Amino acid sequence: MEKKGGKEKRMQSPRGMRDRFGRDLARKKEFFRQASNLAEHYGFQEVETPILEHREVFEKGVGEGTDIVDKEMYTLTTTGGDELVLRPEGTAAMVRVAMEHGFPTLPQPQMWYYAGPFFRHEKPQKGRYRQFDQFGAELMGSENPAHDALVIQLGYEILRLSGRGILVELNTLGTAEERRRYVEELQSFYREHMSDLGEKDRERVETNPLRILDSKDEGTRKVNERAPQLMDYLGEESRAFFEKLKSYLEALSIPYQVVPSLVRGLDYYAHTVFEYVTREGDEKSLALGGGGRYDGLAEILGSQKPIPAVGFALGVDRILELSDPQRFSPEEKLAVYVVSLGERAHREALRLVRELQNLDCRCFLPLSDQKLGKQLEKAEKLGYEHVIILGDNEVERGVVQYKHLPTRKQEEVSLENLFRYLEQLE
Ligand code: AMP
Repeated sequence: MEKKGGKEKRMQSPRGMRDRFGRDLARKKEFFRQASNLAEHYGFQEVETPILEHREVFEKGVGEGTDIVDKEMYTLTTTGGDELVLRPEGTAAMVRVAMEHGFPTLPQPQMWYYAGPFFRHEKPQKGRYRQFDQFGAELMGSENPAHDALVIQLGYEILRLSGRGILVELNTLGTAEERRRYVEELQSFYREHMSDLGEKDRERVETNPLRILDSKDEGTRKVNERAPQLMDYLGEESRAFFEKLKSYLEALSIPYQVVPSLVRGLDYYAHTVFEYVTREGDEKSLALGGGGRYDGLAEILGSQKPIPAVGFALGVDRILELSDPQRFSPEEKLAVYVVSLGERAHREALRLVRELQNLDCRCFLPLSDQKLGKQLEKAEKLGYEHVIILGDNEVERGVVQYKHLPTRKQEEVSLENLFRYLEQLE
């Protein structure tokens, strides 16, 4: 929909999507580096999947009646008539990967992590974008609650890199069968209290009644105080599973709180669901990520064999916005401003840059015809400390002038020694 000045608008990034560069991009990459490093320490391997998936992956996997599938997917039809979507989340896609590559026949468990952009057509606001980054991990092929603890621990340790206090909000949804019985009870309870529910929640009674449990609507919240509790519908095994998980988290000193209204709104969870939130004084807590166990998902997607699995996804944008600016700052590289004066010097400067590659430094070659003084002013403005100056005279004699801008100290260095000279600057 183009409004006035539509042409100019087309020359801006789409709403809720951003160009990233400089420090912002550097921090994001550094977060991915540190998080990947931790995930690999825990035995997870990286996987990269396409940004586009068949619509069914999410329609079946995430489920109709969820905001993601009903309202938020970017869908496109290819010229061949396939309906593809920009991936709105990672878990359903990972199960598709597991089915396609025969994970159930491989040594168990399979432990994978991924990082990259996801897309949801939501209303953009602070910390909420239409293209955002997630870092996720999925452990497949285990029904052991100790693996739930391992996955929760990895996410917790990654979030602790932010320097913020983190709390794990935890709940259990039991088995699919227990949940089905509970959902039936819940539905008939809500049907009796229809007129007291908020408008949106009335619709959810038939489509996704579990979602009503974490509704923000005042009327609904009052009704929820008397709603049947899932805990009362869990069998022995589900209770024991939850108790074991809690005892592992305690042994790992991971701070958690059981939140009975936490359902995470997606169809595919069974047993464990959790969310990572900030925990600091009385401040409103913010969700930095979440996950759960999804034992039934592979079968929902058509797998012959069940793939019991547990995983999480972290919201990278929010983590970066909330963490101390010093966190995730990549190590500064030695930065050198190379002033070359004249054609011969430009040629020599190009060669020099190639040689300095091994020093892992960041060279900047303006290859400018401006006077030396002007170029030094520019270097200073851009924040450089180290300058190499090359003129005809220097090229002739196989030397360069090194200048330290903050002190104005200048020294002649032979090309032969330049590498060693720069190395000892830091
Ligand atoms: P979800 O996949 O909905 O469980 O989301 C996991 C985490 O991703 C959330 O806790 C948020 O931190 C983050 N997240 C989800 N949607 C967005 C969005 N539209 N913009 C930025 N971050 C998001």
